[in-house]
Amino acid sequence: MTNSNFSRFDLQAFLIEAITAQGFSLPTEIQERLIPAIRSGKDVIGQSQTGSGKTLAFLLPIVDMINTDKAEVQTIITAPTRELATQIFNELKKLLDHQEEQTIQAKLLVGGTDRTRMIDKLEKAQPHIVVGTPGRINDLVSAQALGVQNTSMLVVDEADQMLDMGFIEDVDKLASRMAVELQMLIFSATIPEKLQPFLRKYMNNPRHVHVKPEHATAPTIEHRLISLRHRNKIEVTIEVAKIVNPYLAIIFTNTKEQADEVADAMQTAGLNVGRLHGGLQARERKQIMKQVNDVKIQYLVATDLAARGMDIKGITHIINYNIPKDLDFYIHRVGRTARAGKEGLAVTIYEPQEQEAIEKLMKRGINFIFADIKNGELIKLEKPKFGGNKPKSKSTVSSGKALAKPKKVKPGYKKKARYLQEKKEKRDRRLNRKK
Ligand code: ADP
Ligand code: MG
Repeated sequence: MTNSNFSRFDLQAFLIEAITAQGFSLPTEIQERLIPAIRSGKDVIGQSQTGSGKTLAFLLPIVDMINTDKAEVQTIITAPTRELATQIFNELKKLLDHQEEQTIQAKLLVGGTDRTRMIDKLEKAQPHIVVGTPGRINDLVSAQALGVQNTSMLVVDEADQMLDMGFIEDVDKLASRMAVELQMLIFSATIPEKLQPFLRKYMNNPRHVHVKPEHATAPTIEHRLISLRHRNKIEVTIEVAKIVNPYLAIIFTNTKEQADEVADAMQTAGLNVGRLHGGLQARERKQIMKQVNDVKIQYLVATDLAARGMDIKGITHIINYNIPKDLDFYIHRVGRTARAGKEGLAVTIYEPQEQEAIEKLMKRGINFIFADIKNGELIKLEKPKFGGNKPKSKSTVSSGKALAKPKKVKPGYKKKARYLQEKKEKRDRRLNRKK
């Protein structure tokens, strides 16, 4: 237990125990580099690929640094969605459960839960660590249920999504209510330019640790592409879903309407399916996440609400009902599988208008394998038939065309060939009769 490679971080014994109990012996690179920096009190920007262990990179030093003599909020951890906040909170609990006495208190504060009850509980005791969504946390500060004026550590997880979802102002407001001497920890897979004003405002000479990925996505993901051709998309999706027979799969759609449509059809087809999108009630979202985590369902149909940050154990397959408008989301979506070195298969169904997007993903280093359904199996197709799998920089334009060609031209070509053949046979018969 004590010879864990985590022990040189000089963390409290119960934390080492908790990590060992989860079977982790080696810190990931981002953990390796960030844990000491956070403990030394530095502002930190942690940027690394999804699935690289950012959560523990901040949870371990945070828990370690809590002063239990003070019954006040010492750290606030924010995440853009309730699901993500809940996930972080559960990770935190796994650590706290190993305390000899439950001296460090943590609370999950997210929207969609009973606010009055939350306020009542907070009146009785203030937690040391708060995990939540920025909106609800601010709300509780405004209601004077949560005291943050002395809180000196703020974590912003999935900062780029916070920005996209318009929550960065909430985070800004929260930060302005906290202690002046604020240690800020920002985590994200990407640090977009638009985030810079916020970073400049709050970060004092931060340590920016960027673990650059060698590959666009984890090397253990296989990416397959299926051309829809003239088939029904929902039927193909269901067929793929059945063939891959996953432990747990997420089927991503671009809209909630599609998500409902696909989920309904899968249900009708007798598959064990759940759905997750922004159109559902908070209670429904919570229920489905519980079912997912308990592996009560085999398929989750979801919008990109579930694409970022979510670390669900046992996702073996991702099926993309369509290619996301924002290509970064392809990376986010497939990143829900093949986490922490495990393997995963991503199957994307595409149509002709999506071929440019595919080309772009290939340029980013996604190595697609073309595939199709045959006799109840996913078979690999020959590369030449479907155009360049590895676009060479100069020929990308033409390889894009090569990709497009077979589907557009081939059916016509076949028809024409058949037509010519028939014409020839007719003519031959006519000639024969004449003879
Ligand atoms: P990120 O936030 O970078 O996307 P997570 O913190 O969600 O990644 O971690 C991804 C997965 O890796 C989780 O299932 C987590 O339990 C696991 N993990 C974290 N640290 C380690 C480690 N040191 N060794 C092995 N697995 C780890
Ligand atoms: Mg994360």
